[in-house]
Amino acid sequence: MLKIERKTLLYKTGVEYGDYTINHVLGCSHGCMYPCYAFLMNKKFGKVKDYKDWITPKIVSNAVDLLEKEIPKLRYKIKHVNMCFSTDPFMYRQEEVSKLSLQIIDILNSNGIPVEVLTKGVYPVELVGISKNDDNYFGISLVSYSEKFRERFEPGAAPVEKRLKSLEFLHRQGFKTWVSIEPYPTPNIIQQDIRELLSKISFVEKIVFGRWNYNSFVNFNFDSKEYYRRIADEVMNFGLKKNIKVIIKREVLL
Ligand code: SF4
Repeated sequence: MLKIERKTLLYKTGVEYGDYTINHVLGCSHGCMYPCYAFLMNKKFGKVKDYKDWITPKIVSNAVDLLEKEIPKLRYKIKHVNMCFSTDPFMYRQEEVSKLSLQIIDILNSNGIPVEVLTKGVYPVELVGISKNDDNYFGISLVSYSEKFRERFEPGAAPVEKRLKSLEFLHRQGFKTWVSIEPYPTPNIIQQDIRELLSKISFVEKIVFGRWNYNSFVNFNFDSKEYYRRIADEVMNFGLKKNIKVIIKREVLL
């Protein structure tokens, strides 16, 4: 795998429900076609040339050294570390990325810092021996149960069934789990029933719901505001019934 070096690693994010975050890989082989906001930003700022460059991940070779230097300075400011907003820590079939992510979780937890992880990959079983903070949260992104949708919009990501199984496994091991349903597609992209998706994830502790923001796919002839409020209500009611914490992203309610 290609390598890069960075000057800093831990930083405070402006993302709605985030705290500190790290991106220990540049690029992501999942290559989401929504398109991926991280790809657009990295392209805009000249960090990657094009889509092909983006889906060829480059690992930050000095990530562990940086982390060990930065933790003592930031330790008491950090509530948790989000992994990750600009890459995927458990990129499907990218062993080196997973290995480094496990190392990072180990270091953070050993310093009393919990992590909030999100992936469209598969969690490795080794995580069970490494994760040691009761406040760790492990999540998957899941916006459709359709493999056809996954193949079109998340071509390099793990099949949805595999993602779910790995999350269920962590739940059975006693870990806190969550699901990000974002960006939830409009019916012109795919016709689906949110209740089917929700029925698969009734074991999680938390659900975050957000809308599809990418104009090129949105059908302007339909009332997306009304649509998203209705779906958000379904998610809220499901959360109440199952005792699951639900976070509806701000833009859904505007
Ligand atoms: S998994 Fe996340 S970081 Fe990777 S391409 Fe998809 S949206 Fe971007």
